[in-house]
Amino acid sequence: MQHQLPHPNGPIPYCLKTSPRRRTVGMRIDDSGLTVHAPTRLGKKTLESMLLQRADWIVTKLGEWRAKQVPAMAWRDGERLLFLGNEIALCLTTDLRSRKPALEAGRLLWALPTPEQADIVARKVVQWYRREAMVDFTRRIELLAARLGVAPSAIALSSARTRWGSCNSRGEIRLNWRLIQAPPHLIHYVAAHELAHLKEMNHSPRFWAIVERLCPDYLAARHELKTLSARLHRLG
Ligand SMILES: [Zn+2]
Repeated sequence: MQHQLPHPNGPIPYCLKTSPRRRTVGMRIDDSGLTVHAPTRLGKKTLESMLLQRADWIVTKLGEWRAKQVPAMAWRDGERLLFLGNEIALCLTTDLRSRKPALEAGRLLWALPTPEQADIVARKVVQWYRREAMVDFTRRIELLAARLGVAPSAIALSSARTRWGSCNSRGEIRLNWRLIQAPPHLIHYVAAHELAHLKEMNHSPRFWAIVERLCPDYLAARHELKTLSARLHRLG
């Protein structure tokens, strides 16, 4: 049966399955959303207060599940893209000469000789993202580095599948170019995290204290980034 769990960020729909033989409450998140298995005799109030205690976990898992439902890019005119946390529309037109793309009023305007060739469009858009990422990340890292009194030896882009940033013992910092799709405060967090490694090459409490100085909301940012991850990996 379909139920709604009241939650400050909006009700969470769930499917309740009860059994007289069951002794514990179990939760599962899959293609049909959240399913709760509970003993028949458990009252609804008790059950919902138990579920609310795990609300953070449920919201995270539902977010991850929803993000996985993100359809693959089709690379055609009208495609929705993300840039610095904003939705932008890819507007393709035909022009014999390949023109420079322009970001205008929520649209990425691009004239190409063959806008119907999805692989070429994909490659060009990714190149554009990488260029924008380099400019944005460099400025952000330089400003934060000055605040922290450190100086990275090099700033580069990465395209790792599992990491948003890295810092090595030579003082080189890499940020994943896909981050340029994310809201600025998330890029800020990853930049702060990697720069803090120039002072502490570990994840000790001392390290997190440095991150917190640059990014007081780092815990929320880390969580948000995890939720957004599948969406950001749609590109490239
Ligand atoms: Zn780290």
